[in-house]
Amino acid sequence: MRHSFPAAFAIVALCARIACAAPPETPLDRLPYTPGLDVSAMDRSADPCVDFYRYACGGWQAANPIPADQASWDVYRKMAEANERFLWGILDSAAKRTTGRDATQAKIGDYFAACMDEAAVEARGNAPLAPYLDRIAALDSKLAIAPLLADLHLATGDAGLLFGFGSGQDYADATRVIAFAAAGGLGLPDRDYYTREDERSKEIRAKYVQHVARAFALLGDAPAAAKAQADDVMRIETELARATLTRVDQRDPYKLFHKVDREKLARLTPAFDWDAYLRALGLAKLDTFNVTQPAFFQALERVLETESLASLRTYLRWHMAHSAAPYLGKAMVDENFDFYSRTLRGVPQLRPRWKRCVAMVDGQLGEALGKEYVRRAFSPELKAKALTMTKQIEQAMGRDLQSLAWMSPATRREALAKLSTLVNKIGYPSKWRDYSSVAVKRGDFFGNVVRAQRFESRRDLAKIGKPLDRGEWYMTPPTVNAYYDAQMNDINFPAGVLQPPLFDARMDDAPNYGDTGGTIGHELTHGFDDEGRKFDSHGNLRDWWTESDAKAFEERAQCIVDQYANYVVVDDIHVNSRLTQGEDIADLGGLLLAWTAWKAQTAAQTLEPRDGLTPEQRFFVGYAQWACENDRPENQRLMAITDPHSPAKYRVNGLVVNLPQFAAAFSCKPGQPMTSTRRCRVW
Ligand SMILES: [Zn+2]
Repeated sequence: MRHSFPAAFAIVALCARIACAAPPETPLDRLPYTPGLDVSAMDRSADPCVDFYRYACGGWQAANPIPADQASWDVYRKMAEANERFLWGILDSAAKRTTGRDATQAKIGDYFAACMDEAAVEARGNAPLAPYLDRIAALDSKLAIAPLLADLHLATGDAGLLFGFGSGQDYADATRVIAFAAAGGLGLPDRDYYTREDERSKEIRAKYVQHVARAFALLGDAPAAAKAQADDVMRIETELARATLTRVDQRDPYKLFHKVDREKLARLTPAFDWDAYLRALGLAKLDTFNVTQPAFFQALERVLETESLASLRTYLRWHMAHSAAPYLGKAMVDENFDFYSRTLRGVPQLRPRWKRCVAMVDGQLGEALGKEYVRRAFSPELKAKALTMTKQIEQAMGRDLQSLAWMSPATRREALAKLSTLVNKIGYPSKWRDYSSVAVKRGDFFGNVVRAQRFESRRDLAKIGKPLDRGEWYMTPPTVNAYYDAQMNDINFPAGVLQPPLFDARMDDAPNYGDTGGTIGHELTHGFDDEGRKFDSHGNLRDWWTESDAKAFEERAQCIVDQYANYVVVDDIHVNSRLTQGEDIADLGGLLLAWTAWKAQTAAQTLEPRDGLTPEQRFFVGYAQWACENDRPENQRLMAITDPHSPAKYRVNGLVVNLPQFAAAFSCKPGQPMTSTRRCRVW
């Protein structure tokens, strides 16, 4: 795409100059500042009533080409990278200092040092994998798979090894934590990759089989044997994939809830020795399980019955190698990158080691690193500000629920009850996770990874049968993202997402409410989207809707589904709007709540235009600028299958067409592209 505004070109040129000079990369000691409404990110040559996304983000897109080590590049990802650089500074100093560190700093510092010690990692090559592969090779019967698999699950936490097993809240009683046995076992990102018959899917499958064969070759197999084994892997995975629910089906919690006792579990998969598996996990007495996808476990039974022991060993060997690939020597790391990033996502270049190591610490010792991050980057004032805004958005939701014309009093009561029990979690957990039992050694990166994973697997399993910990977070504090949890009935905003340009204490209210207010509203609305609405105020799966209210909701949701189905992601691939409807509903509902909250907040104020934009225009531009993005076509194809979010452009343009407030703010006339004759509204 060509852009024609000088300011943006100047920025591009500056970036190019930095790249040419190639200064050594260095960690940041403070986070960079980008304003919450960035005028230079706009393209004022575009007509906001024709293409609002381009108007709000065209400058950003021109000035921010996708870096070679990224699949896509957007405001969130750019912030995440700034955070990574900041965390790098924390870790680098913790790694270099050997005295004056507290226990947390010593743990994350030594872990980071071991990860960064590329020479030591390279010297060991694939050797750390050998003990695991030896045990797989020594399997002498199919029944012996179960206890070995238990240990491989503990060591990797990887559901790619046949299936996933862990803890989860009982859908029927959210206060209880029970065991979940979940579908897994695949090496490609979704079951659709195995079942689709179009040319591109066939090509990806062929390349996947080549990748698996090359991985076997790197483990020392002759080319012909490697190829035959890769075919075995593909055959087994295809059988499992065919029995796996689509992502759209998985949005229906009723389809994922099948509580069984030990006997029923064993009857589902008689060829798998569950007693031995559970004994090996230290859970011999367990008697309640949610088997999320029974049909998958029936397919697993067929696989165990019909496949030879040799093929099953091959399958396990592949998944163990795949799971460990990022922590082995360069040859395996590169091979893994080549398929999963280059082929599937179009990424030209592997991320530098420091980025991968920062991500590893965040993934494995996240709350230890997060504690250091929060201490430096998140003030109590910021937390208080975010909390105030959250309360205002909740009040707006309360007023919305009270005034909705399509909802009957009975359903309204339940909806208000759900809103009143909803919990806000802002910034970071009130109690930090204790990693003191994780042994971290310098010079033993692979060992550290496995020990940290075993700690995490054990921590997760230990929750079964214990009282629910409502304080737990599923994202680490530096994460630039947020989530709603339907069973906890809570919204969670890590410190990382409450930073400029998303949340900017120096900015006027309009863009802050448009952006962060919109995000808070988005998460809140998830409690009432197509999936969230099926859980009640206690987080239990229970139908609290009258029949006519449920029908009214579905008609409104269908309006969104129909609207987004028209949008093209890439090539001739349309948005899978039955998959994205929850996010699309949350986007629209969220921004309306933010608008109401902002209007209430500023009712007594006289707001002035700034940067040539009225306050209302600033609200919408502030909203849109969270979504500025550039994407690679390969990545767009992958995301079209796996991502429940619509592409960024439609999360802006698809949303504003539904809002009369937007048309008024920019004086858009009926018939212009950013207005719609059939406006959708759910909440
Ligand atoms: Zn969402």
